[in-house]
Amino acid sequence: MTIPSDPLARQAQAFAQGAKLGADHLTALTNRQVNADTAQLPALDIALPQSGHSPNDVLSLMQDAGSPGTVASAAGRYFGYVIGGALPAASGARALLSAWDQCANADTGPSVMQMEQTAVRWIIDLLNLPAQTGGAFTTGATVANMTLLATARDTLLACLGHPRGKGLLGAPALRVVASAEIHATVLKSLRLIGLGSEIIERVPTDTQGRMRADKLPPLDASCIVLAQAGNVCTGAFDPIGNIADACQAAGAWLHVDGAFGLWARAVPDLTNALTGLEKADSWVVDAHKTLNAPYDSGLALCRHPEEMRASMAIGAAYLPPTDPSPADLTPEFSRAARGAETYAALLSLGREGLNDMILGFHNKATRLADALRNEGFTVPHDVHFNQVFVTLPDSPELCAAITAEVQASGEAWFGGAAWQGQSGFRLSVSNWATSDADIDRLVAAIVKARETVLNSQAVA
Ligand SMILES: *Cc1c(COP(=O)(O)O)cnc(C)c1O
Repeated sequence: MTIPSDPLARQAQAFAQGAKLGADHLTALTNRQVNADTAQLPALDIALPQSGHSPNDVLSLMQDAGSPGTVASAAGRYFGYVIGGALPAASGARALLSAWDQCANADTGPSVMQMEQTAVRWIIDLLNLPAQTGGAFTTGATVANMTLLATARDTLLACLGHPRGKGLLGAPALRVVASAEIHATVLKSLRLIGLGSEIIERVPTDTQGRMRADKLPPLDASCIVLAQAGNVCTGAFDPIGNIADACQAAGAWLHVDGAFGLWARAVPDLTNALTGLEKADSWVVDAHKTLNAPYDSGLALCRHPEEMRASMAIGAAYLPPTDPSPADLTPEFSRAARGAETYAALLSLGREGLNDMILGFHNKATRLADALRNEGFTVPHDVHFNQVFVTLPDSPELCAAITAEVQASGEAWFGGAAWQGQSGFRLSVSNWATSDADIDRLVAAIVKARETVLNSQAVA
C-alpha cells in the first residue's frame, strides 16, 4: 500500500479501509453466532507501543481481534434489552459523518445542524405533538430524561417563587410521582438533578404493567409526574391522557419516558394506546432503539422550549445568540451530529417505511408470543407493542437454564428478567433486520434448549 503524502489523502485512505472492513464485518454477520467470541480480547489489551502503528495496521488489529468479540446485535437474531439495529442509510450516514467530523452547533456545522433541526421537526410531526414543541438530540433517553426533569424542576420552582439562578439551595420541596414500574435509568436521572430517587411517590400498576390513573395521589403545582410509553417488560403504555388531565387540573408537570415506545404514536394501528399524549409537558424518545439509528442517539422534546432553553443555555458572552443551538437545549457543548443519522434513517424510510417497520415489530412480537404459548410457555400479558415477557410459573429455574442454554448456543440472544414477582426471560423485537424466519428460529432455539436442559436433568 502506498502512503499518500497529503494529510487528508491519508485520512481518506484510512477511511476507505475502515469502511471496507466494516462492510466485511456486516456481510459475515448474518450467519455468525450471535454471542461474542471473547478469546481474542487479550490481543487488544496490549502495552501502548513506543512508536505508533500505521492506520492500516491499527484497523487490521481492531478488525481481526475485535470483530469476533462483538455481539451480533446488528443482525436479526438478537432479542436482548431493546437494542435495535442500524438502517442501511443511517449506517452509511454514520460513515459519511465521520469523514465530515462536524461539531453539531450552528456555526461549527451548518449543514448537519439543518439536518438535525429538520429531523426534530419531522419527529414532532410524526408523533403529533403540539406545534410549539421544541427539542434536541442527546446521547440517549437517560440524558434526555435528565434534561427535561431539570427543566421541569426549574420551571416548577420558578412558579413557586424560587428563581432558576438560585439552584436547589433553600428551594421549596418538589414531589415526584411515578409508576411503580418506572425504568431504572429514570431513577438515575432523578439523582443527577439533585431530587434523589427515594422521594418518589409510587403509583401502583395494573396486570399489564400500566400506571393506574385512579391511584394517583392528590396532585399539586409542586409535582413532577412521570409516565411511561412502553413498559420494558410488557411494552404496555400508561393511560397518558387520563394522567394528563389530572396533571393539568393541578398544575403539575407531566413527563413521558417513551424511550422505545413513543414510536407507536407514529403508527395509525397502534396510536390509540397513546391517546392524549399531546397533553404532556415533555417527552423522551430514543432514535437508537426502535427507530434503528446507530448508537448513541435520543431526543428530548418539550412543549415549553423556552423553559428548556432557560434551564440548559450556556449563556457564554462570546457565543452568538443562534436560535436554537443544541448546546443551549441539552447538557453537552461539543458533540457529534448524531441527529443527522436520524435524518438519514427517516428519509430512507419515509412515512410508509416507518409505519411498516414499527408495525412489523408488533406483528413479529405477536407471532413470537403466540408460538411460545403454543409450546407451553406463559406470556402473562397482552402483546401491546414489541416486548414479550416469558415465564413458566411452575419452574422459573427452567427459564434461567433455557436463557443460558440459548445464549451459549449462539443461535439467538436474550436476557433473563423479573416482572411483577415472576421470573423468566424477556424478548424484544426491535431490529429492522429481524425476519419472520428469525422469529421462528428463535422459537425453535428456545424449544430445543428446553429439551436439552430437561434431558440433562433427567440424566443427572
Ligand atoms: C432504554 C430505556 C431508557 C434509557 O435509555 P438510554 O437510551 O439507554 O439512555 C429509559 N427508559 C426506557 C423505558 C428505556 O427502555
